[in-house]
Amino acid sequence: MPWKNPVHQSVPKVDVSRAKAKQRVSRSLRGYTHEWDVASRMFLQENPLCVRCLSDDEITPSQVTDHIIPHKGDMSLFWDRANWQALCKRHHDVKTATEDGGFGVR
Ligand SMILES: [Zn+2]
Repeated sequence: MPWKNPVHQSVPKVDVSRAKAKQRVSRSLRGYTHEWDVASRMFLQENPLCVRCLSDDEITPSQVTDHIIPHKGDMSLFWDRANWQALCKRHHDVKTATEDGGFGVR
């Protein structure tokens, strides 16, 4: 037989951080690649303050590049800088919680 069951070919010892690896894979599948990390970091340098805190007259350093319209895997939306906003961790968490948490999500 030219090939065997691939399971038997190489079974690396991955039980150490299987959950982490899985997380990494799903992250990059959703577009969060190294390129995104670089672009995101640059965006936060250009937009160093959380825009939602600013609208509340608060000054908070931005920590997360957020997609205003959830991209849901749409790469043109994902990379559209007009769809990016700088948020602090707190506002990003609030936003993703309402988006992913099922409030009006169809
Ligand atoms: Zn904020």
